[in-house]
Amino acid sequence: MSSIPPPAGVVSFEEARRIVEEHAAQMLSVRSSVNATENVDLLAARGRVLAEPISADRDFPPFARATRDGYAVRAADVQTVPANLEVVAEIKAGDDVGPITIQRGQAASIMTGASLPQGADAVVMIEYTSTSTKFVEIQRSITSSENFVPRGAEAHAGKLLVEPGRRMDHALIATAAAVGKSRLHVFRKPRVAVLSTGDEIVEINAAPAATQIRNSNSYSLAAQIEEAGGEAVRLPTAPDEPKRLRELIEKGLQCDLLLMTGGVSMGKYDLVEQVLVEMNAEFYFTGARIQPGKPIVFGSCSADTPVRVPLANEKPSSAAKYFFGLPGNPVSTMVTFRLFAQPMIAALAGALPEPLAFLKARLKSEVRTKTGLTRFLPAILSGEFANTEVELAAWQGSGDLAALARSNCYMVIPPDPERIPAGEWVSVLLP
Ligand code: AMP
Ligand code: MG
Repeated sequence: MSSIPPPAGVVSFEEARRIVEEHAAQMLSVRSSVNATENVDLLAARGRVLAEPISADRDFPPFARATRDGYAVRAADVQTVPANLEVVAEIKAGDDVGPITIQRGQAASIMTGASLPQGADAVVMIEYTSTSTKFVEIQRSITSSENFVPRGAEAHAGKLLVEPGRRMDHALIATAAAVGKSRLHVFRKPRVAVLSTGDEIVEINAAPAATQIRNSNSYSLAAQIEEAGGEAVRLPTAPDEPKRLRELIEKGLQCDLLLMTGGVSMGKYDLVEQVLVEMNAEFYFTGARIQPGKPIVFGSCSADTPVRVPLANEKPSSAAKYFFGLPGNPVSTMVTFRLFAQPMIAALAGALPEPLAFLKARLKSEVRTKTGLTRFLPAILSGEFANTEVELAAWQGSGDLAALARSNCYMVIPPDPERIPAGEWVSVLLP
């Protein structure tokens, strides 16, 4: 039997992340040839990755738009205040101002969102005016161009507003709506196989024997895959037996990405790496110095002919697929997905890379850890603004799903300090 790759394959958190990001970028560079697109209704595009550019179909704003309720004036007329101006029109949002021109000594009553009339070059807020029947008294002087947005100042017709590769959120949906797109081309969702392993794992609708464990990982992963923009394909659980495990791995490699859980530690029945070695898989790392999730494995493999995933300048092969072997402990599975599988799924979905963003919060009580590992520990974030605080959730280790249910984030603890005193700023990762 072939041997498992040497421990040199265990890398730091940053290095593991960099390796995944490199492969994700490579994936993205061949995106156009591998990702089919589909045309969906605007609201169905939420969370999907845009496959077409969204450009301004006309100037934004399409007319000089008042941003205050008040009076459209010629700024030169109100340099000396109070100034009395003749009110010649009332303009509300949507009114056609074509026929209206403001001459010297004149003003028009104007509402927010209305079009500035010819001749006017500023809007005086209503708060600085008082009116009599046909006249308005302006009590504050103003410089030209105040309180309106000139036509085309936000974007000229034809300007690119949203580039392909962006995940469609509510703001981008609004942008598409504003340029009149009721349907959008988005990339097809990548199909991501989920393969749980372990003789002790039973399906969630079966009655578990005392020593059996329900398959929660398949469900957390399926949910995380959907959130990351993929389509989960849950395979039957693989036993800790190489033949059936290999069959199921081969099946999983038919999808765009394969996620396995369990069977990647050092135990006698942790067979995932062994089977992948037999299948001539290429390994990019075989562990990361993190907790939880240290035994994580990342590589690529073909179900048929053993070829690695091609580099950007090589002809893409449909055969080699990326895989992650995620540790089976439920918290480890979720954390390693978040840190490593998510960017790969985003890239497969055609999305431009996004940085792993951390929040900052004050540590509520001192944290002591051993050095050497970057930790992502279940934690409780509370408070707001300058009072945002975080504390570790009590837990029994990476198998403790109940601890996750009590927490709402992960506290990020760098590998070097043994002790972080209360009151320090620490990084927090949202799940
Ligand atoms: P392993 O990584 O295979 O050594 O498994 C580590 C721990 O995670 C063991 O306690 C397993 O029972 C548990 N585990 C493995 N796979 C799953 C799963 N699919 N759902 C829930 N727990 C699991
Ligand atoms: Mg196992």
